[in-house]
Amino acid sequence: MTDPAAITQALSAIKSAAEIVKVIRSADAGMEKAELKLKIAELAESLADARLAVVDAQEQIITLQRQLTEAARLAEVHERVERRNSVYYLRDADSESGPYCPRCYEVDRKLVSLRPPPRPMRHLGQWQCPNCDKLF
Ligand SMILES: [Zn+2]
Repeated sequence: MTDPAAITQALSAIKSAAEIVKVIRSADAGMEKAELKLKIAELAESLADARLAVVDAQEQIITLQRQLTEAARLAEVHERVERRNSVYYLRDADSESGPYCPRCYEVDRKLVSLRPPPRPMRHLGQWQCPNCDKLF
């Protein structure tokens, strides 16, 4: 998934570019135009490699930020959720919502509002989940 390889690749490409710049700077007037063009081509290639690696790292950072935001949201919900009579309720400052499906919350971390089952199935449970169809 994510690893720091992209940053390592970017740093390596930037280091190569810096070394090429050093060679070009220290070249005396006798450096052949063809050799100079070759060094500039190598420089452009190193900068392109660095750019790609930074774009890769940027995508990884965006993915990690999304995962962190989702984890924080789940942790916040987990603080406010309460299980009673086999189903979940979500506490707010001065109110409560629910009931929510215990299976969907415990397995998928989703709060799915339960509803009464169709009349012929009410002897099987008080609530039914519209997502997983389980009765409670
Ligand atoms: Zn469910």
